[in-house]
Amino acid sequence: MGKLLAPNAYVDSIFDITAEGLKDRGLYGVILDIDNTLVATHVKEADEKIIGYIGTLKEKDIKCIIVSNGAKDRVEHFCKPLGIEFVYKALKPLGRGFNTAIEKLGLPPENIAIIGDQLFTDVLGGNLKGIHTILVKPIDLNEPFLIKLKRIFEFPFLRNKNYTDKY
Ligand SMILES: [Mg+2]
Repeated sequence: MGKLLAPNAYVDSIFDITAEGLKDRGLYGVILDIDNTLVATHVKEADEKIIGYIGTLKEKDIKCIIVSNGAKDRVEHFCKPLGIEFVYKALKPLGRGFNTAIEKLGLPPENIAIIGDQLFTDVLGGNLKGIHTILVKPIDLNEPFLIKLKRIFEFPFLRNKNYTDKY
């Protein structure tokens, strides 16, 4: 179980990950979480910085897809200005959302990274699928109750970790 909860990297923010760094590691597709990875959970819109960031990844031939456990409305509305495909109600860490995303990306799992803020959904789910896992520090810890509860269980796995990796 310990290994399944260990990400390949810990980064402070999504902006520490570059297209060049991904390609250097043989990664040509990314599965992105929304809540607390790209924006704080209460933020409904993708801001200019995120739109620019995703645009740069795409320009540099990194395929992008959103996989979120969020509801259809939230995910669809958020993704519209990004112009990328998405999977909503993905039930991470279970495989369905990941399988759909891997298929849509059309790449072998070892060439794909999941980027997300939660160990028990993003990292566990990614490791179960054999894709590269990058844990980002959550943007805002003012989260719904159930997620706060999960953070308590994440703590023992994270307490000695520094989010200083750069890609
Ligand atoms: Mg999240």
